[in-house]
Order: sequence, then C-alpha cells, then structure tokens
Amino acid sequence: MSLLREAEKCIVNQRTFSGLNAFITPLQRSGPWLDSVRAADDRRQNGKSISPLDGHLIAVKDNICTRSMPTTCASRILDHFTSPFDATVVQKLERAGAVIAGKTNLDEFGMGSHSVHSRFGPVRNARGDQELSAGGSSGGSAVAVATEQCYAALGTDTGGSVRLPAAYTGTVGFKPSYGLLSRWGVVAYANSLDTVGIMARSTAVARDVFRVLNHHDHRDPTNLSPQTRDRITSRLSSPPLSGRLTSQPLRIGVPLEYNLAELSPSVRDTWRKTLTNLQNEGHSIHAVSLPSTKSALSAYYVLAPAEASSNLARYDGVRFGTRATGPDSDDADARSGHLYAKTRGEGFGAEVQRRILLGAFSLSADAMDNYFVQAQRVRRLVQEDFNRVFAMENPLSRKTSSNAGDKDPAVDVLICPTAATTAPTLSSVMPNGLSSSSSSTLSAYLTDVFTVPASLAGLPAVSVPVAAADNNEGSDTVGIQVIGQYGDDEFVLKVAELIEQV
Ligand code: GLN
Repeated sequence: MSLLREAEKCIVNQRTFSGLNAFITPLQRSGPWLDSVRAADDRRQNGKSISPLDGHLIAVKDNICTRSMPTTCASRILDHFTSPFDATVVQKLERAGAVIAGKTNLDEFGMGSHSVHSRFGPVRNARGDQELSAGGSSGGSAVAVATEQCYAALGTDTGGSVRLPAAYTGTVGFKPSYGLLSRWGVVAYANSLDTVGIMARSTAVARDVFRVLNHHDHRDPTNLSPQTRDRITSRLSSPPLSGRLTSQPLRIGVPLEYNLAELSPSVRDTWRKTLTNLQNEGHSIHAVSLPSTKSALSAYYVLAPAEASSNLARYDGVRFGTRATGPDSDDADARSGHLYAKTRGEGFGAEVQRRILLGAFSLSADAMDNYFVQAQRVRRLVQEDFNRVFAMENPLSRKTSSNAGDKDPAVDVLICPTAATTAPTLSSVMPNGLSSSSSSTLSAYLTDVFTVPASLAGLPAVSVPVAAADNNEGSDTVGIQVIGQYGDDEFVLKVAELIEQV
C-alpha cells in the first residue's frame, strides 16, 4: 500500500472512531503534511527512504510538546497552551520523515491507570459490544494504534502507562531503559521515573521507532552520555552476551512473587501457555525470587506523587497556562496566595490534586523519614533484586562481581503478565470526584503491581499481546511482559518478537 493510501486510511479512521476519544487534537484532513507523505512515497519508489518511518503517521501523547499543535496534558490548567518548541523526540520523528498524526488523550499529566482522568473525557476501548478501560495513562495512544488511526504512537511510561494500555488494547507497548530516549520537551510527572514509550501493532515497528529516537540529547541532563552508550554497546557485543541475539537458547526467569492469587484465570493460563511454548522451542524456564515485589507498589505511590507535587508547583497561574479570574486576582498584594490557590483548585482535576496532597505530605518534615526515605530504600532493594537474577551485570552499577555464584539461577530476561486481569469495563473504573471511594482509587493503583518494579529500577520492559488461552473474560488477547537488564533493550525486543511468533 502506498504511504499516501495508508495515511488517508488513518485519517478516515480518526473520523470514524472519533467517539473513542483517542485524540485531543486530531490531524487536519488536508495540510502540508500531505505533500510530505507524497514526497516520502516518491523516495520510497526510488529506494531512497530517509528511514523506516519515512512518510508514516505517528501519534504523540498530549504531554509531549509540539509547536504545531497544543499540548494540554489533558488538564484544564493547560487549556490553550501551545509550546514554543518541539520535544526532541518529536524533532527526531520529523527528521526521520514521519508525520505527527495528532495529540492523544491521557490521564491528566499521566496520573492514572485507565485514561479516565482527562479534562476531555475518558478514552473508550470498544471490544465487541463492550466498552472497556483503555488502560492508562497512554490510553489514547493505545486506542489510536489499535484502531489504525495512526501507524504507531508515542506515550510516556512512569509506572506502566505504556505497557498497561498495550495489554488492555492488544497492542505492543515498549518502555525503554530510563535515560535512553530524551525527555526534553516531555512534561514532567515524576522525573526520576518518566520514560518516553512506544506503541505499535508489532514489535518490529516499535523497534524502528526506538532506533530513530535512541540517541544522546545534551539538552536532557538525565540522558545517557555517548560514553556510557558506547560502554553498554561494547559489553553487549562481546562474548558471552554477543551470541544471544542469534541462536542461543534463552534462560527465562519467572518471578515467583508475581504468581498472585489475584491473577485472573485467562491471564494465568496465557502466561503458562507462553512459557510452555518457549520451552518447546528449546528455551529453559527458571523460577526466580524478587522479594521486594510486594513493597514496590507502595514505594512507587510514595515516590511518584512526591516528585509530582514538586514538578507541578510550576503551574501557578503566572508562568504557564490558565489563570483563575474573579476578585482574588484583582488584589494581588493583599491576597497573593489566593490567585495561586484558586488557579490550582480550578485547573487541576481530582486525581492530580490527590497526588499533590499525597506528595506534599510525604515530603513534609514530619513524614519524610517514614515515607519518602523508606520508599527510596525500597527502590534500591528492587534494583538489587533484579541485579541478582540477571546474568548480565547492570552496566550502571559500580559493583563488578558476577552473580554466577549466587543461589538464584542467572537469567537473560523475565517473563510475566503485564496486568493481573484483562481490561475491566469502563463503567467500573470511572471516577466520581475527590470523594470517589478510596477502594476504587486504590484498585486503580493496584493495577500497576507488575509494571512498577521495572520502572523503579529503570529497566527496559515491553508488553506483547498473546492470544488468550481462555476467551471468557471479554478480551481475546492478554499482555505478556518481558523485562530485561538495564541497557539490554534490543534483546528485550528480540524476545518479544519470539513471543509474537510462537
Ligand atoms: N498508573 C501509574 C500512575 O498513576 C502510572 C502512570 C504512568 O506511568 N504515567 O502513577
């Protein structure tokens, strides 16, 4: 199919599926982008494509800055905000010939697991005659990919926001190692965890996007330096690791602590089927223990809100976005605090306010030691757990000893479910304001139990759709997650592809 045909099909789908609310800003039907796609078609015919993404439509989550379209983060506080610059990842896509297919809907500032906390209303994941949760917070990107409203999409993943929507919509969601893709121009939620992620209908396409974006950016101080990148590459390409990308059988780790009672039968059976299939292909399965798993979720929900409360302090009605009107803003000297408070009270939704309160509390002098500091300790334990089970050393750790002598078998990757269940119905996860029952808020947080450990450790992780072993739960696919050692991103994608094929 020509690139122009493909693009036109995406635009038609954007209209047909507009009720799914995947886009906040869709692509205009006509515009200069059409000429870019035509030019890409010509280049392709002459064998001169700039990159594998040349002429393809790629959607971008609306917390990633674009000059040509507004960036709202699905928040009232950024109504009418358009960034004066493009994020580095957007620049890289465009330089590779891709066309930005619009800005996708999300949970406000990336906070949520079902894409229901949006000022523009929830994203809908229509499966058969049911309306399901699209997962969150990159639910708009996931639905846009699943319904072919774009070729691929960018999301962000702080604690699972690309992997969970992928699992719920039957798409591939890849969170690269922290620090590989530039965060410059990506609106911060919890910056020690935020990672740009990729959603696509196949691992091969996710890899193409990853390769275009995976380059050093000096504007992002947390981006890996060229020296560290070289060090990782040379370690990966020397024996014994070099053979893994070809024919060596895999050593697959199965974390015992992930076998929760809460796993739905369909998820458990599909996980088991995937492992059996891989075993039949000659790979070996090893039970491993990650004891810190049960504390990881609690640590995440202390650390992420703490960083969020600090990052979101910049929305004060003065420097960015909207400002509350009314008497409070008239007499700024006498009641200067009011402008700030009123703007934030009106501009932030209930879930964001909840996170700010949680974060401000855990950072307060009385609570700091019991919450924030403890959570940082747990984060370190999570990292150590992973380092103990992987055969490859963490290229960022200073320790040079190998784990060969430890009692756990050293494995190449971990394979586990992305979420404990398939997508719940949308109505069961809709919020009802600050007063929403604490049980529904808590169960949304619990959804992330399998995704946050890799986020806390900064590891590469991908969710791949696998045909459900048991189709009774309304979803024909289950998301299976592959987690690898830091920097082992290409290998993780390779294993994901293997799972796609068996
Ligand atoms: N659901 C998690 C949260 O609300 C993860 C969100 C994300 O990865 N952006 O924090």
